[in-house]
Amino acid sequence: MVAGTFVQIGLLPNTHWLDGVIARNVIGEIKVDEKGETNIKGIFAAGDCTTVPYKQIIISAGDGAKASLSASHYLMNVME
Ligand SMILES: Cc1cc2nc3c(=O)[nH]c(=O)nc-3n(C[C@H](O)[C@H](O)[C@H](O)COP(=O)(O)OP(=O)(O)OC[C@H]3O[C@@H](n4cnc5c(N)ncnc54)[C@H](O)[C@@H]3O)c2cc1C
Repeated sequence: MVAGTFVQIGLLPNTHWLDGVIARNVIGEIKVDEKGETNIKGIFAAGDCTTVPYKQIIISAGDGAKASLSASHYLMNVME
């Protein structure tokens, strides 16, 4: 007899639309370096959809701040 079930959701990132554009791992997480930059210069990613470990709100928020600062630095250097 089954007393109950537990459905775990939210494990697979919705990144299929990046197929052939941005490098991802086998489960579809976008590969990023320590600055949040992807394999394409000037394109950054953050949060649960990336390879950064531990999917938690505070980690995603920090990652978002990091990726946006990296994007800002990138733009400042490009425009110099
Ligand atoms: C059931 C469950 C319970 C959780 N409990 C906790 C908890 O107790 N504490 C905790 O810290 N973390 C918890 N988490 C994890 C936490 O929710 C995530 O780490 C956090 O929400 C990730 O934030 P994010 O901005 O990276 O992604 P998300 O919050 O997933 O935001 C991504 C957004 O992008 C949108 N999107 C997706 N594809 C596209 C597209 N192609 N175009 C435009 N928009 C798009 C989505 O609709 C979504 O609004 C839980 C997660 C789940 C699934």
